[in-house]
Amino acid sequence: AGVGPCVRCGAPAVALVRSTGDHLCAAHFVASVERRVQETIERTGMIRDGDCIAVGLSGGKDSSVLLYLLSHLLRDRPAVRLVAITIDEGIAGYREETMKAARSLAADLGVEQIVVSFEDAFGSSLDAFLRKPADPHPCTLCGVLRRRALQTAARRAGATKLATGHSLDDEAEAALMNVLNGDLKRIVRTGIPGDAFVPRIKPLGEVPEKEVTLYAVVQGLFLPLPECPYAGRALRSEARGILSSLEYRHPGTTVQFMEGYTTLREEVARCLEEKGDLEEGGFGRCEECGEPATGRRCQACALLASLAGE
Ligand code: SF4
Ligand code: ZN
Repeated sequence: AGVGPCVRCGAPAVALVRSTGDHLCAAHFVASVERRVQETIERTGMIRDGDCIAVGLSGGKDSSVLLYLLSHLLRDRPAVRLVAITIDEGIAGYREETMKAARSLAADLGVEQIVVSFEDAFGSSLDAFLRKPADPHPCTLCGVLRRRALQTAARRAGATKLATGHSLDDEAEAALMNVLNGDLKRIVRTGIPGDAFVPRIKPLGEVPEKEVTLYAVVQGLFLPLPECPYAGRALRSEARGILSSLEYRHPGTTVQFMEGYTTLREEVARCLEEKGDLEEGGFGRCEECGEPATGRRCQACALLASLAGE
């Protein structure tokens, strides 16, 4: 607010779009986000006729914006089907309300919704898993099991793509963590999806988090929801802090970092391929569940085994 008139129509602006430097009113800001997402989808070819897109819908603002945007951008493309998949991790005092938000958005948009709980998929809620002595990091366990549950549900639903609501900042945080962890294989792996996965797409991957949030506010998708009791304990939240203070003092850092990271990833993949080493970064099959895995066990089975005390 208070950033001068909209460069398109002169109405009071609500947003400053970092990538163009334009001040925009609410209506022109909405159009700008939609145009950029459309452009990402077209340039990358991430959505094609005949696709069934499973949208991971948590009920939080990012995934709500994603489902809302896709249902609008795809309304004239009957050859593309949308289905929402919501995973209920089982987090008391937090997930009940966000589940409700997810249900009502899917219903409002007329999008079929599939709900799977950790309890159904893995026999136990996240809360219950975390009461056991093995004590993995909550967000690691939550993330690994949620990705697995999403993949399985997407495949069962006949989806050809799995769309998640990651923004530019989420991608940059993950990239920074990969660099900080020195995990070269992971850097390459995120670039080449194993063929057994339902390929993941991130239509909001070029939109800054702040603009996703503002889009949610302007479109009435922003609900005052509780925060996860386990949030804030991860390396990720520190990575976020570092990136946002760099971005604040040196605008454009996030975009530049992601451009550099993408180039680096492609170069590393090419080098490994030339050396005939790409196999190492590639996928085999988990001995237990048959899902793609980099070792003998997939990450999900390894975690479940450690929780079972194996
Ligand atoms: Fe799961 Fe961590 Fe997110 Fe909570 S903050 S929902 S534990 S990933
Ligand atoms: Zn497995």
